[in-house]
Amino acid sequence: AKDAGKDRWRRYESSLHSAVVERHKLRADLDRAIADGAFLLHFQPIVAIGDRRTHGFEALVRWNHPTRGMVPPAEFISVAEESGLIVPLGAWVLRNAVEAAAQWRLLHPGEDVYVSVNVSARQFRGREQGFARWVLQEIDRMGLPPASLLLEMTESLLLHDDGEVAAELAELREAGVRIAIDDFGTGFSSLSYLRRLPVDVLKLDKSFIDTIASSAEQHAVVDMIVQLAAILQLQIVAEGIETEAERDLLVTMGCHLGQGYLFSRPLSYGDASQWLLEEAS
Ligand code: C2E
Ligand code: CA
Ligand code: CA
Ligand code: CA
Repeated sequence: AKDAGKDRWRRYESSLHSAVVERHKLRADLDRAIADGAFLLHFQPIVAIGDRRTHGFEALVRWNHPTRGMVPPAEFISVAEESGLIVPLGAWVLRNAVEAAAQWRLLHPGEDVYVSVNVSARQFRGREQGFARWVLQEIDRMGLPPASLLLEMTESLLLHDDGEVAAELAELREAGVRIAIDDFGTGFSSLSYLRRLPVDVLKLDKSFIDTIASSAEQHAVVDMIVQLAAILQLQIVAEGIETEAERDLLVTMGCHLGQGYLFSRPLSYGDASQWLLEEAS
């Protein structure tokens, strides 16, 4: 029995070891990936859940690895955050997302869809000129109105701030850029501080949406969040809507915007452009 225990330990140790080696390899590959042009963006439509018209797109990064194929962001964003590579990667994402949104404005002058970009905490510390200054410069360069950019951040980023992030966000909001809390409800979910956070949009996490059709309790929680958001004049975007039942319940609650496989999976730039074209016709 003692040997079996030892054996189990060795197996555990060696799997731990290979996990560490894997992360190292991933990190080395990541360092080269920007220069190699191995990243691309997909765009998931954010729609009015009532009439399904497109209001915006969330930019989601993809890594086309030379041997592994498409690596999902869940596997490399945390590595990029630890190594600091998220700063140049995040800059690449913002630049390309803003460029895409500017293109769509040219192609569909009547539509003015916005682009929503995920931002990590590290990105605020990564540049000398200040995050807000840099973002405003990028959108100005592409001729995108500030209101056509939404920046998504997590609750923990907003709550563990020592004042520096708040100052940057104030500058961005002053200029008209909007801020969203991503994965809302999965973090501290203390509703009392919401009033004080410098945000415009709550992205209601998929885990809530998954259960509204099956659990009366969860349904009541989401209903309350939607009402509170209305009082605080925050917009809600429901994430991960997969069924008509979920959609119907959200419409009844008065939730206006959402995204999810029910409407569309994340699309390539070309498919997103086609999506807009079909909607306009
Ligand atoms: P997120 O910001 O919560 O993004 C939503 C994720 O849910 C995306 O996965 C999207 O493809 C997926 N999704 C959307 N609708 C549905 C649905 O109806 N059902 C299901 N099952 N999934 C749905 P993805 O693209 O794998 O991204 C995962 C996470 O990676 C994102 O979660 C975000 O936290 C992070 N991420 C992606 N792109 C970036 C980026 O450019 N910068 C940063 N910092 N993080 C990013
Ligand atoms: Ca997001
Ligand atoms: Ca989210
Ligand atoms: Ca998420």
